[in-house]
Amino acid sequence: MAINWLATFNSLNKEGRPLARITSIKASIIKSFKVKMIINEVPMLLNIYYRDKNKEIDPKCPRCGNEYEDQVHWMWCTENKYMMKQAIEEILEASEKGKSLLEEVKKKEIRNYIEWLRRRNVPPCVISKENILPGSEKGHKNYKEKFTHDFITKIYENIWVPSREVISNMKDNREASNIDKNVLADYYTEKKIK
Ligand SMILES: [Zn+2]
Repeated sequence: MAINWLATFNSLNKEGRPLARITSIKASIIKSFKVKMIINEVPMLLNIYYRDKNKEIDPKCPRCGNEYEDQVHWMWCTENKYMMKQAIEEILEASEKGKSLLEEVKKKEIRNYIEWLRRRNVPPCVISKENILPGSEKGHKNYKEKFTHDFITKIYENIWVPSREVISNMKDNREASNIDKNVLADYYTEKKIK
């Protein structure tokens, strides 16, 4: 696959505003998230598992229980409440280019882009030289950069953050139920002693 590195780099820095006095915290979080995606450092369960010397972490996706939660799976897990397709549709909905596309064309381009992402397994923050992004065939200058920036922002806010909350709640529940078991065990031991 031919990668457009200049566009990819420009998209990384979208809204980075290096000269602004007050750096927007959100912009820097999104930027660092994109970089982590490119170098496969997003802390999903499989990455945590690899780094964990004691291998106490179960890298299987606790939401669907079907696959390891790797750099691809967390985005596409069937248990996600917000789907990648939805993010793409919202971006097109909000852009002049997207609004101008015929409904049929839009559907086809979205389908092709999703198939391409799944087949290539590339992080969606990497911009290809191909005009595979929906609406990019006749898109204006910087269209791909803006689209990609918006896409990653939506993925971060609507998929990454909520999915970490779900996993962290599951962990808390497990810990809480272990505590309950321990309390019960102590209670019965005490009773026996009496
Ligand atoms: Zn899953």
